[in-house]
Amino acid sequence: MTDDLLTALRAALPADTVATDDEVLASHSHDDAEWAAYGAPAAVVFATGVDDVSTAVRIAAERGIPVIPRGTGTGLSGGANATDGSLVISLERMTRILAVDAGERFAVAEAGVLNDALRRRVAEDGLWYPPDPASYRISTIGGNVATNAGGICCVKYGVTRDYVIGLTVVLADGRVAKLGRTTAKGVTGYDFVGLMVGSEGTLGIVVDVTVSLLPLGGREERAVVGYFAELSDAGRAVAAVTSAGIIPSALELIDRTCLNAVAQWQGWTLPDGAQALLLAMVDEAGARGDELAADIAGIFADAGGVDVRRADDPDEIDLLFAARRLAYPALERLGPVLAEDICVPRRAVPEMLARIEAAAAEEDVVIANIAHAGDGNLHPLIIAPEGDDDAKARAKRAFDRIVDDCRALGGTVTGEHGVGLLKLPGAAEELSPVVLDLHAAVKNALDPRGILNPGKAFPAAPASKGRS
Ligand SMILES: Cc1cc2nc3c(=O)[nH]c(=O)nc-3n(C[C@H](O)[C@H](O)[C@H](O)COP(=O)(O)OP(=O)(O)OC[C@H]3O[C@@H](n4cnc5c(N)ncnc54)[C@H](O)[C@@H]3O)c2cc1C
Repeated sequence: MTDDLLTALRAALPADTVATDDEVLASHSHDDAEWAAYGAPAAVVFATGVDDVSTAVRIAAERGIPVIPRGTGTGLSGGANATDGSLVISLERMTRILAVDAGERFAVAEAGVLNDALRRRVAEDGLWYPPDPASYRISTIGGNVATNAGGICCVKYGVTRDYVIGLTVVLADGRVAKLGRTTAKGVTGYDFVGLMVGSEGTLGIVVDVTVSLLPLGGREERAVVGYFAELSDAGRAVAAVTSAGIIPSALELIDRTCLNAVAQWQGWTLPDGAQALLLAMVDEAGARGDELAADIAGIFADAGGVDVRRADDPDEIDLLFAARRLAYPALERLGPVLAEDICVPRRAVPEMLARIEAAAAEEDVVIANIAHAGDGNLHPLIIAPEGDDDAKARAKRAFDRIVDDCRALGGTVTGEHGVGLLKLPGAAEELSPVVLDLHAAVKNALDPRGILNPGKAFPAAPASKGRS
């Protein structure tokens, strides 16, 4: 079967687009979720345009071979992990920005364009694409769409879904569908754009993305920084900012373990006794910005924050947020990381942080925390030393327990990384039988042979008996 697939792909696709050497297969067989299972793909197609994607999907579909769409593989849920004998279709060579319309405020980018490249290009025209996953320099816009990526400023400006207005998608039989609009509004037909966003490559392969944009100017950034001697105090400060009705443009939490990892890596020093750092930003201009920054500083201090201060210098703000962005790669240097992505109601952040600390103590595992705290989106990162099977088992127990605690507090198992493979058990608990039936029905309608990224994004549905 593999020989037949390769012969057909090589005959139909441009030279240098079909790779089968071991190194390429290995580096494209999984994403950044170190604990999720993966297999050995038969080949990787490096598509250079929509025709390559369509041809490759058609050839795979005719043979019933699973297709795994892939951006740059920065995913943290196993969503881009290959199965044995599958065909990986990489969009990473599709890096053209096809249009920027400053008057209508939209841009069209091929799926392999990095988030940062899109942001920089539209900034040249005085425009802003807000969704900013911490991976914005290394992840693709196609991957961001497929996972409905969130990010740091999403607490105020929303997630990827809020900006995607059109898509070109290759369907499971190789047909090409143009979905959505470029107008400011539009409700013609079902919202297939909305359906595709966050579908993790299971319903179609995104080849280009139309995003709406905001004007770049008019914002004045002020950061507020506070250290906390207790993680739960930082959690109380987050809940208090929300209940005061303040909507910061960022509210990020980094705990001691992450700060230490970044500090050791980058040669920084930390205040003694600090267990957590909260980084808030407001971007209102003038006196209103000053007022909000002062309010947040007051809330941090009331919740037990020490060394609470303002940072208005753009270079210092960049450095502080760099520490946040470096936290995950810094931790990966310490050992395999099992990354959670729970999202709880914001008022439940202090309680959830306390439960995470209890899980770490009682299961005897190291759990570091970074969080888009203003969204209630927490990333407990469970670290088990390489080769220590007992620690791995304890880490897995802690992972499951945190998912259960999150759901008990009214949360959801994944806020932004997607279900992929890692969150399938949690999603099976969270989604009712009727909702799982709906997933299966949609999948079956769009991909009846089940070739697009099978087994990802949602668990198999048990037969539903009318439960909601
Ligand atoms: C250091 C670090 C920080 C991160 N911070 C954040 C964060 O703040 N917010 C956040 O949301 N995520 C974050 N992530 C996770 C990850 O970067 C995002 O999920 C990102 O959207 C994945 O993009 P990618 O190009 O790497 O996609 P991949 O990992 O290659 O793929 C992700 C999923 O999308 C599918 N897919 C990819 N491209 C396409 C396509 N063109 N069409 C259809 N399906 C496709 C894949 O099959 C897979 O299911 C972070 C990851 C790292 C390593």
